[in-house]
Amino acid sequence: MKVYFVGAGPGDPELITVKGRRLLEEADVVIYAGSLVNPEILKYARPEARLYNSASLTLEEVLAIIREAVSEGKRVVRLHTGDPSLYGAIQEQMDALESLGIPYEIVPGVSSFAAAAAAVKREFTLPGVSQTVILTRRTGRTPVPAGENLPDLSRHRASLCLFLSSRDLEAATAELALGYGNETPAAVVYKASWPEERVIYGTLGNIAAKSREAGIERTALLLVGDFLSGPYRRSCLYNPNFSHGYRKGEKSGG
Ligand code: SAH
Repeated sequence: MKVYFVGAGPGDPELITVKGRRLLEEADVVIYAGSLVNPEILKYARPEARLYNSASLTLEEVLAIIREAVSEGKRVVRLHTGDPSLYGAIQEQMDALESLGIPYEIVPGVSSFAAAAAAVKREFTLPGVSQTVILTRRTGRTPVPAGENLPDLSRHRASLCLFLSSRDLEAATAELALGYGNETPAAVVYKASWPEERVIYGTLGNIAAKSREAGIERTALLLVGDFLSGPYRRSCLYNPNFSHGYRKGEKSGG
């Protein structure tokens, strides 16, 4: 019996994948990251399924639950918020399962950075503005490797999405302003896709103060970059003068 690592999505219970929902409906044991997974999503599980909140568990305890359940032939879902590949601490779980000889599979999910872009109704990759998205965090108890510090990353002026840093926004925005400048548009998206979703707009110079005044302390992303407003070039993809594999342009060489 395989263990499934399932991305729960950013919060809205309809933003889990069809496959993730099916696996939850079939599960005997669900171990969920209780600090962020919307409890509404747990309603997909059968009433008799055993639910464990991993917020208060160690890696060893999570593994013990998985091991026991698998040995009893139970179906296990390990539910992570957003997409499991980002800040999910799943590598150590997968490697442990590997060494225990327990098969597993990962079901991706909608990351909160995608839900945040949906909330602000902006595209990260605007032609002539930025074709790169930086997903990062500020250094905290988990260190960030040298070369990935915010002042260095800010020099690319790419579209940027900062995780896990809502309490450090003053310091983070000061560091980012070194490369982007204080006037670059910024937004804080709190609980993207939840009923209590909120978006605060500003610039790198004032977004930290605005966010603090709004009382936002957790479950938020900082978006930074000119993609949030302002001019951009029209795409080549849908330009009538541009030919590509699926459509011939009106003018040759466009
Ligand atoms: N794997 C997750 C990220 C987990 S790290 C994903 O793909 O989204 C936890 C951080 O993600 C939080 O501190 C916050 O910065 C961000 N986050 C998670 N869900 C969020 C949401 N619905 N809205 C805004 N930020 C969110």
